[in-house]
Order: sequence, then C-alpha cells, then structure tokens
Amino acid sequence: MKERIITEIREFVASAQADVARYPTGPYFDEPLVGFAAMDDPLFADYKRIIGDFHLTPAELCAAAFGAPPRAGTVISWILPITGEVRRSNRLENEFPSRQWSLTRTHGEALNGEVRRYLVSLLAQEGYQALAPQYSPLWKELADTPVGRASTWSERHAAYAAGLGTFSLNDALITAKGIAHRCGSVITDLVLEPTPRDGCGHGDNCLYLREGSCGACIGRCPVGAISFAGHDKARCCAYVYGTVPEAVGKAYGVPYTGCGLCQTRVPCEGGIPRGRG
Ligand code: SF4
Ligand code: SF4
Repeated sequence: MKERIITEIREFVASAQADVARYPTGPYFDEPLVGFAAMDDPLFADYKRIIGDFHLTPAELCAAAFGAPPRAGTVISWILPITGEVRRSNRLENEFPSRQWSLTRTHGEALNGEVRRYLVSLLAQEGYQALAPQYSPLWKELADTPVGRASTWSERHAAYAAGLGTFSLNDALITAKGIAHRCGSVITDLVLEPTPRDGCGHGDNCLYLREGSCGACIGRCPVGAISFAGHDKARCCAYVYGTVPEAVGKAYGVPYTGCGLCQTRVPCEGGIPRGRG
C-alpha cells in the first residue's frame, strides 16, 4: 500500500498538471517526495512544547473527526518541489516575486489541496479512516502565538516527522529536492512503516545551522527579516501577506503571491547543499 500511495500521489500531480484546461499556467511542480510518520511518534507530542500547546496532535485531529482516535495510524506527508523554470524566474527578482512564482503560490497550492482531497477519498474507498488536517474544523491560523503567526497543524513539521527534510535559518524546510516547494499531509488509521529520519538533527540540511556557513538567504530578503539570529516572522508575514499582494497581486491576477526570494538564488534552492562536506 505504501508504494501505491506514492505512485498515486505522483500520478495525480502529473495528470492534473498535464490538464492545461485546469491548470493553464503550470506546470508548477516536479515529481513529489512522499514520507510517512507513525501518528503516535513522540515528536507530535513534543511539538506542543516546541511550537505551542495550540498545535494539534494526530490523535486530537482524529478524535475530532471520528469520535475517537484510532489505536494506531500514519501521517502521510508529501513535498511538491517547485520546478526549475519557476525557481529560475524568481532568482531574477530582488523586490517582489516573479509572476510564475506567485501563480505557483495560488494555483499550485490549489492543486496541493486537490492532492489532500484525493488521498482522503482514495483511503476511504479502501476502507480506511482519513482526514486532511488543513480541512479539519480544528485547523486555524493564529496571528499571535509565542512563535508568531502559526497554525494548529504545521505541514512543515509533519514533513520533518516523516523524514522529508530539516529546518533552515529562514524557517523553511530543506528537502532532498531543496527548499522551494509546497507541502501537505493526510492522517489515516492505515498503519504503514515510518520513513526513517536517519538521526537527522533538526537543521542538518541548512549550511548555517549545520556548520555556521552560508547565510545567503539573509541578503535575499528585501525587508531584512532574516539574520544570523533567525527569522523575524512578523516582518516576513507583513511583507508576504500585505505589501507584496498589494503591489503585484492585481497585475498577476492572484490573491496569494508568496515571496520566496529567500528560497531562490540560494545554495539550498533545489537540493541539500554540500557545504564543507
Ligand atoms: S541559504 Fe544557506 S543559510 Fe539560508 S537556509 Fe539555505 S543553506 Fe541555510
Ligand atoms: S519570504 Fe520574503 S519576506 Fe519572508 S523572509 Fe523570505 S525573502 Fe524575506
């Protein structure tokens, strides 16, 4: 079933993007990466301490959806790596994201939502309970938490738990296909073998967090939201959700523009940077 799920996600993304009537401005993504975490992985309880008590565990989300959590289950997580062409367009920009990047943020994320729904329905057809945390009634975005703007389920943290990547100086997730991606997840009572995390430290794929070098993302941020001390979420969010859509949203014809300047023209853009090795 594990191989089938990986294949289904990959084929779904490929065929949706091949349908130019549906996604005329694509393709947005290369072949997805897929990982698996046990829903009772202690990391999910740890996230209540690391992110905040508001962050939900898979068991809490299942209890709300199904009346009681299953005895065991799996968090299925995927990465949709942004294509080289879209990334290259954003590399040329210094103030606002490229049109292609913004189209990917809006329409590529709509496709990501379709992946969530498709996987839930596929698992249901096979007789398993399944839910997409992003569509749970418990999912909320909170403007003001001890860690700044945050939601009750972090797709990036689910992807880390599922062995798909590690965190970065600019608060993103660096995967085998780089930092420029969209990610999603579904929780199910289908028990699948977890993807090993290979003893990865939480920042091992980021050159600065691993060996104190790089910092290229700092110079890419037009509003100084990244420094060697970390990522200023409030400053970043004000730019990404305020300034940028006001400046280019209408011209690009999209409600969500993203920014992603710190995810392009950087060593981690399309893979795990080697560093000193
Ligand atoms: S650009 Fe360098 S410091 Fe910034 S996230 Fe990527 S690897 Fe880390
Ligand atoms: S997304 Fe844009 S505003 Fe936010 S940290 Fe990266 S470059 Fe700066």
